[in-house]
Amino acid sequence: MIPYGRQNISAEDLLAVENALRSEFLTQGPRVAEFETALAAYVGAKFGIAANSATSALHLACLALGVGKGDLVWTSAISFVASANAARYCGAEVDFVDIEPETFNIDPHALRRKLDHARQTGMTLPKVVIPVHMAGLSANMAEIRELSDEFGFRIIEDASHALGASYLDFRVGSCRFSDITVFSFHPVKMITTGEGGMCLTNSDHLSARIQSFRSHGITRDPSEMVNHYDGGWYYEQQNLGYNYRITDLQCALGLSQLKRIDDFVRERNDIAKKYESLLSDTGLALPEVPKGTLSSFHLYIVRTDDPSGLGRKRLFESLRAQGILVNVHYIPIYRHPYYQRLGLYRAEDFPIAEDYYWRCLSLPIFPGITDEQLGDVAAAISNRLGHQTIF
Ligand SMILES: *Cc1c(COP(=O)(O)O)cnc(C)c1O
Repeated sequence: MIPYGRQNISAEDLLAVENALRSEFLTQGPRVAEFETALAAYVGAKFGIAANSATSALHLACLALGVGKGDLVWTSAISFVASANAARYCGAEVDFVDIEPETFNIDPHALRRKLDHARQTGMTLPKVVIPVHMAGLSANMAEIRELSDEFGFRIIEDASHALGASYLDFRVGSCRFSDITVFSFHPVKMITTGEGGMCLTNSDHLSARIQSFRSHGITRDPSEMVNHYDGGWYYEQQNLGYNYRITDLQCALGLSQLKRIDDFVRERNDIAKKYESLLSDTGLALPEVPKGTLSSFHLYIVRTDDPSGLGRKRLFESLRAQGILVNVHYIPIYRHPYYQRLGLYRAEDFPIAEDYYWRCLSLPIFPGITDEQLGDVAAAISNRLGHQTIF
């Protein structure tokens, strides 16, 4: 069996976790801050605030930006549901923006059209836009940033796929074009902590708010007290926060994994190059990386040429039957029953996302996949597609 993605755990990772287990702290020890500092330094952001998942981190990011009832948040039509759910947790309404056909990222032109339309018809403008760096390729952040200046929305980058990627001269996560960036450390992502995520920001204010919401809205800092500071035991809950803390154990693994991030990105890019030559004659559309960007290749997404979806379905089933665990990333968020029940979205408004959904397929890509396995995947695809042209 070849999964579409999986973790890569080294002997050093095992030792790091063992050391954490033998230490004084299982949670809220020194490794949380060490991991936050190391990752923030790596991406070039001022603050890192770790959480127990990227979903929690996205929720924290929305809370920090004051997203609430009556607010509107826009995100990409093609993403994991968590990108939209974070806004729903805050009571905000969600809407979607169509994607670019080449990068599968939120389309800045579609975003502008939607913003212009909202402004001209007197409708609510979004408070926050959440671009998603699909498969590890950065969205067009320069243009999205220009629109944010013009229309006054804030930006959260959902970079769950994109640790180690770069855009222009900046690492994804530097928040050069955004208020907050979120990474995921789920085992299929670029590095893992089991479950885990992190918010990156350059704002002291946002960093403090994220930290507060991460741990019950409680503060122990005497200088921040609203009421009288009664003594050494005293703390105050000042907001309705959550327990979204990550553990020391997990951060021990994260710290150790982070040392290999550039190797992981390099290896994934090598795998992408191998696929490119192995699959060049299959008629599949292969991913392209625009100049000036480095993809982390969290996913390797190909597209069949059959807009009906039948070609993809056959290819999916044939590969799955041979133990090649290809996948589909993603079902457009508005197609899920929860979002359909809101009665706000029409598939016709997202023609590129719809077309993409019926043609996309994620092939196995992860550090440690062998040339033989890549050859098997390519051979299975060639056989299937070769076979298909007969009828
Ligand atoms: C994985 C993922 C998330 C959620 O990450 P978790 O750490 O599992 O909560 C959010 N957005 C995108 C785009 C993802 O791929």
